[in-house]
Amino acid sequence: MYMMDLTATKYKDVRKTVDTVLLPIGMIEMHGPHCSLGTDVWIPREFVRRLDKVIGDRVIMAPEVAYGHSWGLSPFAGTIDVSAEAFTQYVYEIGKEFHRNGFRQIILFNGHGGNIPSLTTVAEKLADLGMRVLTINWWVDYREQILEVTKGPGHGGEDETSLILAIDEKLADPTLAGDHQSSLNPKIKFSKYGKELFKDGYLGNAGAATAEKGERLYQMMLELVLADIKDLWRVSYESIN
Ligand SMILES: [Zn+2]
Repeated sequence: MYMMDLTATKYKDVRKTVDTVLLPIGMIEMHGPHCSLGTDVWIPREFVRRLDKVIGDRVIMAPEVAYGHSWGLSPFAGTIDVSAEAFTQYVYEIGKEFHRNGFRQIILFNGHGGNIPSLTTVAEKLADLGMRVLTINWWVDYREQILEVTKGPGHGGEDETSLILAIDEKLADPTLAGDHQSSLNPKIKFSKYGKELFKDGYLGNAGAATAEKGERLYQMMLELVLADIKDLWRVSYESIN
């Protein structure tokens, strides 16, 4: 169920039996000439819509954190970059509030690469409070299986663009993009790193994206996400009982 739809009375009632909350976390940023700025918000939102149909009676779907940290894409128009320090603290404070509200499990469902280091810190700090934390970075966690559907990953690349097309074909136009690869070594950072790595604001073969591939990716990854959530619950129950 969606937290924003509940009254406080209903919320208190639901809280007697539901102690897992899912917090979607995204980013507003440049995604090439072909994908909408909200790409990293749209994809977690779509996962939530599908998850709610399956486990909506056991998980409260919290409103998303739409703004995150993006050092690499900050030179591009449309990127609203929050510092890593502020973002880490902000997401931690939200998680802490859910803990104070009685939640014992939290799922941080992330849609954006630049958020990963912050969310690792957040997960550790929330675990120290006594919460069990599942962090999902879909393109990292399920990379192997994704490659069976779309050939190459990348920011605004074939996988991400396909997932957007499967939501709404008006949100992306793969004909505006091509195949942009980079030979930059990601271990080396320098001031114009993002501009050189992403060039037109994306990476990968976005031109090969289709809605059909996106739908296959959602269906495949939904099962993997559900398996991870079941693992989270298993840890929880073993620890509580
Ligand atoms: Zn993205």
